[in-house]
Amino acid sequence: MRNRQVRLARRPHGAVREDDFSVVDAPMPAPGPDEVLIECLWLSLDPYQRMRMNDAPSYAPSVAVGEVMVGETVGRVIESRSPRLAPGDHVAGPTGWQCFAAMPARRLRTVDPGLAPLPAHLGVLGMPAVTAWVGLTHMAVPTAGETVVVSAASGAVGSVAGQIARLRGCRVIGIAGGATKCAHVVDDLGFDACLDYKLPGLARRVATAAPQGVHIYFDNVGGPVLDAVLATLAPFARIALCGQVSQYQTDVPYPLQNLRSLLVNRVRVQGFIVSDHMPLWPQALAELTGWFHAGQLSHRESVADGIDSAPRAFIAMLAGDKVGKQVVRLALQ
Ligand code: NDP
Repeated sequence: MRNRQVRLARRPHGAVREDDFSVVDAPMPAPGPDEVLIECLWLSLDPYQRMRMNDAPSYAPSVAVGEVMVGETVGRVIESRSPRLAPGDHVAGPTGWQCFAAMPARRLRTVDPGLAPLPAHLGVLGMPAVTAWVGLTHMAVPTAGETVVVSAASGAVGSVAGQIARLRGCRVIGIAGGATKCAHVVDDLGFDACLDYKLPGLARRVATAAPQGVHIYFDNVGGPVLDAVLATLAPFARIALCGQVSQYQTDVPYPLQNLRSLLVNRVRVQGFIVSDHMPLWPQALAELTGWFHAGQLSHRESVADGIDSAPRAFIAMLAGDKVGKQVVRLALQ
């Protein structure tokens, strides 16, 4: 048996291309002491992986050229040299883009396939949902009746952030690309409104949709969308700065025009990284699981098939050519 992997072939400049990756067959890994061998079943594709392809200082190291792409999978333990895990256990962890991985058991999170289908543990019950929960409840701290704006509202993080804000009694306005996604955000995810950022006049439309001003902005995209929302912030607004996906593939940062709003409205801007908040994960997952089972958290996945399709699906995900959480099915279960 061979281990099929996706590696970084070269550093992209601007928009990532398929030939920035190489797909190779490597020897099967062997677990060392306290490690397990995992058959990876589902791969999570996430915008942060684009940042790791750059050779720029960040909160986490870059992927070296020639290395396996960084990423999380859900898989099944097929061999164990650790007392923590047994063959047959299902786990989630940072295995990278590959079909098999040998990893220390302590770096893996056990997942219960009886709780939800396996790919849900990468999305609505996984890292993106915990990010939404941490950002909204601990960074922005909403109060019932406030107006919350969420960008990339149909995506893995944004869809959950908006639904949590609704559950906390807020009025929620999504921002997403295109009429179909906006309809999904309102009709399926239950947001109060959704604005298409690809149409002109976003700042004016945010102001119309939020006549009392925006109390909380959950920012997933940065750039011109952030600038448009800055123009309508309410006094003492909070911004949970979660992501900047509009800026990940450019060397020329967008020049924000409306920063003055932060001063005159005495705004608190809090950037955060979910992995800095590991002690909050059990509480977040418990609450998310409760909502999920009560039917209060809608979710959607876009599924690509086979590890060879990962580069193309990743490029499409960054361009917004998917709905909800983008995953890759690595093996038939
Ligand atoms: P998504 O599922 O939301 O997919 C990315 C989305 O970004 C696309 O669907 C697209 O939305 C949107 N997008 C891409 N380019 C632009 C652009 N130029 N302008 C506006 N929107 C754009 O990804 P995730 O939910 O996984 O991640 C959302 C954000 O959260 C990312 O910035 C990510 O880096 C960040 N993040 C941060 C974490 C943290 O710890 N701080 C942890 C996890 C994620 P559309 O379809 O509407 O066009």
